[in-house]
Amino acid sequence: MIEKILNKNEFSKEDIIYLLNCKGNERALLFEKSSEVKSKFIGNKVYLRGLVEFSNICCKNCYYCGIRKDNENVKRYNISDSEILESVKFAYRNNYGSVVLQSGELQSNKFSARIENLLKEIKKISNNELGITLSCGEQSEETYRRWFNSGAHRYLLRIEASNKELYKKLHPENELHSWEKRVECLKLLKKLDYQTGTGVMIGLPFQTIENLAEDLLFMKNLDIAMCGMGPYLEHEETPLYKYSNLLDPKNERFEMTMKMISILRIMMPKINIAATTALQAIDKIGREKIIKIGANILMPNITPGKYRDDYDLYMNKPCTDDSADDCKNCLEARIKIAGAEIGYGEWGDSLHFKEKNIENL
Ligand code: SAH
Ligand code: SF4
Repeated sequence: MIEKILNKNEFSKEDIIYLLNCKGNERALLFEKSSEVKSKFIGNKVYLRGLVEFSNICCKNCYYCGIRKDNENVKRYNISDSEILESVKFAYRNNYGSVVLQSGELQSNKFSARIENLLKEIKKISNNELGITLSCGEQSEETYRRWFNSGAHRYLLRIEASNKELYKKLHPENELHSWEKRVECLKLLKKLDYQTGTGVMIGLPFQTIENLAEDLLFMKNLDIAMCGMGPYLEHEETPLYKYSNLLDPKNERFEMTMKMISILRIMMPKINIAATTALQAIDKIGREKIIKIGANILMPNITPGKYRDDYDLYMNKPCTDDSADDCKNCLEARIKIAGAEIGYGEWGDSLHFKEKNIENL
């Protein structure tokens, strides 16, 4: 049965549900197939994006997130431009190829102008060599355009849950947390020619297998260039915590994430897929396992150590007490375990995106 599905050109929702449920030998066949697809279409290189979580100040109140606005137990920080640039220099010196700037969401002219300036500085100090991804939430078309014109060329904005009803259970019902607005932003980013990445959390309360299958079809239909998805991890100081009794055990959320990434790799062979930090929080070599079966992007945390504990999206975040150097040293050994090789100094852009642009010339 599974062979028949794996040989298809397109998966239906029913096919995906079958794959998400598979076990034992069938599970092994699924992972074998996605490893093969990965080697055949994008090879065994893993590209690095040094991640700077530069501020945990956020205007939103997502029910799952530890740094939501109403959580008063968070020590808020906003790393100065010069410290951010120091971290970026670390990435440049160590040949990471790219950086990601991520933060809580702020929608103001001051914030837009600050990011615009930072982008220009990063380009300047790296001789235009570092690639830059932003992940700063929902913004106006004008702001996205300003940032693109200042050097950002990739943007990560997870849809979190592609099913509108589920999305509503995870967010307050108001203009600031609208599913439609989030989809609109993803379309804007694509229109502005960003390599656009999205993703979801896996193992959320109220989430069904059907929802997860729909998530993969959503990404395929949106024709994304990149994906970052990972397990949902509960946080005590959030409204969603009271539904913790509905959750699958963490190892099952991890397992489901492996299957999601494996299936997406088969559905979209040439996109970039990140092995996210949340995976490592469940399984120490979680990211390596995911690289084996489909992911090709790693985002080593290069946020200055003293701030890391406070970018507290979920509990037990790994590596919060490491310095950037420690993270770099363990990285190479880890990548080798996964049978992969680091593409030092390369942007490692989404092949899917690049080839589509050539077709459109
Ligand atoms: N504020 C921006 C970017 C920072 S949050 C935004 O929301 O887009 C980055 C990601 O962290 C979110 O997209 C969400 O998917 C993830 N996240 C937040 N809380 C989480 C949790 N409890 N478990 C797992 N991932 C979580
Ligand atoms: Fe803010 Fe992003 Fe957390 Fe939502 S997920 S509360 S937007 S940091």
